[in-house]
Amino acid sequence: MPPEVRLGTVKLVGAGPGAADLLTLRAARVIESAQALLYDALISQEVLALAPAACLKIQTGKRAGRTSMKQETINRLMLRLARRGVDVVRLKGGDPSIFGRVGEEQAFLHAHGVATEVVPGITAASAAAAQFGFPLTHRRESRRLLICTATAAGGGAFDIGGKAAEADTTLAIYMGRDQVHEIARQLIRDGRPASTPAAAVENAGHPDARALWGTLEDLPGLLDAARPSGPVLLLIGDVTARATAASPIYDLKPQRSAMS
Ligand code: SAH
Repeated sequence: MPPEVRLGTVKLVGAGPGAADLLTLRAARVIESAQALLYDALISQEVLALAPAACLKIQTGKRAGRTSMKQETINRLMLRLARRGVDVVRLKGGDPSIFGRVGEEQAFLHAHGVATEVVPGITAASAAAAQFGFPLTHRRESRRLLICTATAAGGGAFDIGGKAAEADTTLAIYMGRDQVHEIARQLIRDGRPASTPAAAVENAGHPDARALWGTLEDLPGLLDAARPSGPVLLLIGDVTARATAASPIYDLKPQRSAMS
């Protein structure tokens, strides 16, 4: 009989929007003592550099059309490592519980007896709002924040529905760049004024973040023209018009209708 190996654990960790100083202290400590790190496409080099030299680092996600590991492969890999007694850190951009497949990964691991822990992170919407100086909610303008995606599992048609068309809803739309025309069309059809202030923020939280400022009606055209290649978050609602001279740290100045 082989000696009994202690089952490793898996920590599902939010890496925030990229800058290492936007990690939680807990996330930083977990990364600094990681034995194996499985990381997604949007994780910055600055964050990866915190891992020990001896840590096994495996990239699971790629951007720009290059193939990513299948979810099933990632699940199996985490399980294999845990069964060898390795404590795994599964590093995800932003907050793992927001479009991070954390539920699927936890369900798989729990079904195989592997304990998990989630370490939260700063999501892209929070990073974008902080960096460009506007709030996501506001007492008089926005009573709710709707975090949603325009990309349906299985490629189903996008239907934003519900409270999205109400004037006092701020929309934070993840993975929405390629559907921005359809998003704007549906929102205007459902009664959201075409003049509603809107923004698209690329690389939120990074020093090289850029933002486009416009309205629900003209944002799609502005995005077509700017053709950002980094991750883009769409923000729709009156609060985006409150963007100020942005962050004193990065000295970014919002300009209406231009990537600043
Ligand atoms: N868990 C992540 C979201 C993962 S889904 C989070 O909480 O932020 C990936 C999508 O998130 C991207 O397509 C983009 O819409 C958005 N996103 C992630 N990082 C971003 C960033 N730094 N700037 C702008 N959008 C970002």
